Order: sequence, then C-alpha cells, then structure tokens
Amino acid sequence: MIEKSTILLINPLRIKPVVGPIAFDYLGYALNRAGFQVDLIDHAFTDLKDALNAYFREKLPLAIGITIRNTDTCMFQGQAFFLDEIKELITYLKSIQKSPIIVGGVGFSIAPEAIMEYVGADFGIQQDGEDALPLFLQALQTNHNFQNIPNLLYRIENQIVCNPIKYVNLTKFQPPRHLINNFRYFNEGGQGNIETKRGCDQKCIYCADPLCKGRIIRVRDPESVCAEFKALINQGVNCFHLCDSEFNNPLDHAKNVCRALIDSELHRHMTWYAYCSPRPFDEELAMLMKKAGCAGINFGIDSGDDEMLRHLRRSHKVGDIIRIAELCRTNQITLMFDLLIGAPGETKTSLKTTIELIQEIGPDRAGLSIGVRVYPRTELAKIIKEEGPIPKNPNLYGIKENNPNFLKPLYYLSSEIGGKSVFNYLSRLVGKDPMWFFADPAEQTQNYNYNENLILVNAIKEGYRGAYWDILRMLNEKNNK
Ligand code: SF4
Repeated sequence: MIEKSTILLINPLRIKPVVGPIAFDYLGYALNRAGFQVDLIDHAFTDLKDALNAYFREKLPLAIGITIRNTDTCMFQGQAFFLDEIKELITYLKSIQKSPIIVGGVGFSIAPEAIMEYVGADFGIQQDGEDALPLFLQALQTNHNFQNIPNLLYRIENQIVCNPIKYVNLTKFQPPRHLINNFRYFNEGGQGNIETKRGCDQKCIYCADPLCKGRIIRVRDPESVCAEFKALINQGVNCFHLCDSEFNNPLDHAKNVCRALIDSELHRHMTWYAYCSPRPFDEELAMLMKKAGCAGINFGIDSGDDEMLRHLRRSHKVGDIIRIAELCRTNQITLMFDLLIGAPGETKTSLKTTIELIQEIGPDRAGLSIGVRVYPRTELAKIIKEEGPIPKNPNLYGIKENNPNFLKPLYYLSSEIGGKSVFNYLSRLVGKDPMWFFADPAEQTQNYNYNENLILVNAIKEGYRGAYWDILRMLNEKNNK
C-alpha cells in the first residue's frame, strides 16, 4: 500500500569526512509544514542497499527523492565521477519498487536535463526545492498535473519538460534543523553548516554557482539566521562553515548577520568560517566578522595577476588581495587563499607573478587548484566550443569524446603553461612549504583533496573542529611544536 503522505529522501553521498545534507533539513521543514512525512536513508552512515531493502519490505512511499550534491570531485587529480553511482542506485530502486524517483540538489542543477536523462530519474527539481517539492507531492496525490510547478522537470512521451524557474522567498525562512542528525555530522565531519542567503550575481567564467543557486541573491532575515544557529548550538554543534557562495556579497547583509550574532550573544557559544570574495570587503566587515566569532576566511582569489583576473571576469584586482590580507591580519582572522591555475589566458608569466605575490603576502594557507573543471552552461564552456573541436583541443584533459554536455570530468589546463608539466614546475616552486596545499595525492600532509582524507578524518576523531584547511593547518602547527 502506498503511504500517500510520505516521501523517502536518500543521501547517496559517502565522502569522508562526512558532510551533512543541509538541503534535507531545509526541504524537510517545507515538507512537514505542507503536511508530508519525511523518511530518510543516509548512505554516509549506513549500507545503502541493506537500508533500502529493509525499508521497502515495510513501506512504499509516495515518492523517493535523491540529492545530487556534486557530479564529480572537481579536482584535476583523481577526477572521480559520481553520476554513475546515482544511475546505478536509480536502476536498483526501479528494480525493487514502483514509487517515482525525483532528483535535485546543487550538483543536479548544474545541468538538470542532461543529468536527469543520464541517471534515468522520473522527475527533477532544479535550484530551490522548498516550494516545488511539496507542490509536486500534492500533484502526485491528486491530478498528476505538473505544468505549473516551478523548477520541476518531468517527462512527456520521453521528452523532458523543464518548467520555469521561480525563487523561494527566503526572507523569513527559519528551519528548525531537526530532520538530519546534525550532531553526528558535526562529530564526524568537524563542522556544522548553514546558509545566510542563496545565489550569486557575479559572472566568473568557470563558476557553476550562479547556475545552481540562482543569479539573483536572496538574503535571509539575520534574526532567522540567528534562530537557526541557536537551534544547531542547542543540538551540540558549535563550529560552522557557512554554505553561502560568498558571504560578503552583499556587504550590508554580511554586516547585518554579524551584528545580529553579536546582539544575540550567539558568538559566545560558537566559531564559524566563511567563503568570501576579495571584493566587496572593508575594515568594518573584518572587525564585525571577528567580533561575531569568525575564525577563518577562505578567499577565492584565483590569481595574483590583474590581466588573468580580467580573463576570469573576477571583480577584484591584486590591490584588493593585498588589502584583505592586511585586514585579516589586523583583526586576527585566519586566512586561506584559493588559487585556480591554468584557465584561458594563463601564461608562465601570470603564474610566476601569482606565486610570487602569494609568497610575499604569506597567508596562513594557500590552495593550488590546477586545471579548471569545465561545467556546462558556463562562459568557459562557450569559450572551449569556440576554440574548435574538443577532441583536438590541446588545452583540454579528461573525457574529451562522447561527453557533449561536459557531464563527465573535463578540465582546461592551458598549453601555454606546459599543460600537465605545470604540476612539476609548481611542485618545485612551492616545495615542502606547509603554507601550500597542493593536489598531490602522494603528499598527504599537503593534500588539497578533502574527499577520503584520512588525516582529516582522524583529526576530527581526536576533536579538531573547523574548516578543513584550518584543521590541517592546526595539525601541522601542533606537529611542529
Ligand atoms: S566564483 Fe564566487 S563570485 Fe564568482 S560566480 Fe562563483 S560564487 Fe560568484
């Protein structure tokens, strides 16, 4: 018998350290409010097939939702691809039961139609799901009319139909965070997660975030954000990483969230980390972030060369990078720089300029991400199409054949800098300096790949908490004492 008001949500992600599927807490809240019951199976903590078999012996839900957080690791070294596992999971589910399967999540929203086709799902929701998923379940319960459900993808005679996008009003959104076991994720993953807003309005050529989360930024009421922090602190979570693409955009919202954390005194009970862009960032924000409990900032600076930043369509310049480092140092905020090496326009000169700049500034940590993942629908995807036939393009690595939507890992690594030989060049340049994280799986202490990172897993078991780059920094400092 179908349980007509129940949806089963499945988290197929089993990366280590574990990362909590925050979307389930947000969706669960919206579903409960609409009168639906949510069951959860989490591959992070359980054998998936055993759990599914046991579940379907007892129950048949109205629908099954699967979250796709990432399509792949987004690291040139390794290039693991996750969609085959999702496809296998969906094939298995279809072999043991009859409920319709709907996929969603940030990874899904990168290329919704192509992914829905690839994994064989019945339905999909791109971008925000908090309004769409309850409406979809109501349609399943009643008339099967999917036409007016925002963000929904469905099939008519084997053709996928994509309904228009509509953003959820997040202003007063205040989920109690009760669906997933947040404390267990924190205990085994080292950090809690929270969103203060959604979307990014920037146009960086390689970035899929505006496609996945929306090009219009929707901010949450700072008081609602504080209420969510409080709910998680009450569950025993006291160190967070914000999920916002760039916390400091818009600047006023970031300052207001910090003020609300200070006014509510929540900053006394926790620490937090954020991703920020070098612009907009000013002295007042640095001071407020420190006062509100911010322990560290990861700035995606990409390059230390103005010409290269222009190629990437970043809004900041080298002067901004120098300034944010000073502001963080003055305010005692630990600082991480993320660099992206090898995009179109990269030359040996821009590379050398970048490395020299970072060595001169000396942030607490700097990550070298070499090779740029080409995601579908980005400006970079357009650029490579203009560069000629993909199989013959000397700047591309990964799956170059039969990969029309770039779903499978495809990387741009400019031949101008010697292609793959840049790994050796950079390895010599940065040496064993612990300031650098480098995607060299042979060198675990400098390993920049946080998936299956046993050093991190063990450190978290020992009680370390924080952003992964900062846990590795703290470990290194302890070992060098
Ligand atoms: S890199 Fe950052 S600022 Fe640029 S589009 Fe992506 S999220 Fe936005």
